[in-house]
Amino acid sequence: MRAPLVIGNWKLNGSTAEVEALISAISAVAGVGMAVCPPYVYLSQAGNLLAGSAVELGAQNCAGEKSGAFTGEVAAVMLAEVGCQYVLIGHSERRTLYAETDADTVAKVRQGLDAGLRPVLCVGETLEEREQGHTLDVVLRQQNAVLDAFTAEELGSLILAYEPVWAIGTGRTASAEQAQGVHAAMRAKVAEYSEGLAAGVRILYGGSVKPGNAQELFAQPDIDGGLIGGAALVAEDFKAICQAAVSGN
Ligand code: PEP
Repeated sequence: MRAPLVIGNWKLNGSTAEVEALISAISAVAGVGMAVCPPYVYLSQAGNLLAGSAVELGAQNCAGEKSGAFTGEVAAVMLAEVGCQYVLIGHSERRTLYAETDADTVAKVRQGLDAGLRPVLCVGETLEEREQGHTLDVVLRQQNAVLDAFTAEELGSLILAYEPVWAIGTGRTASAEQAQGVHAAMRAKVAEYSEGLAAGVRILYGGSVKPGNAQELFAQPDIDGGLIGGAALVAEDFKAICQAAVSGN
């Protein structure tokens, strides 16, 4: 049985006061793994506030290099040092706004794994790609880029997140059926690399998840939790979504 996991991606939001208020209002929910991903500069503060809590910490990105002349970048080892357990990689906003490629995601996954972090590889198609019938081509290409670059043993801590780009921040969610179809295809492809990895890898769904739609999504057999954007900034909503992951499991 895969333990459900819900991760909040705070994106470019927050202040010292807001981080304190939001973290104080979030408590661990039994039966579900929980993590929050504040902006880099608040990671240490968030880590200190979370000390002793079962809620874990993640970063929204990392460099594809370990150190050196890469102005503005933050290395995975640095994230681990300030208390992160997770790092999001290849979020669609990184791919579209900052031109991140599949090769970049491979380099970042490598850095994350080397630093002992659990990489959360985000994959997903645009609306145009869906309408042209290319959903699985895109999602599996993004996923395979990483699967091809590592052994199944190396990827034991990998987490996948299916996030249709057209559902992120738009209020439009994939139906539970649409999401399950893609998750099942992702898991089947992982099984071609390693059945053990496929059975254990958690595949999160992300894209306008709210307390009202979370339970139906999380009840699907291949949906193992969520990657939550907007609703993760509202403590009550985030907790309700985490609760839904327990009941949907
Ligand atoms: C995200 O950015 O990963 C996300 C899923 O955002 P939202 O929940 O706001 O759609």
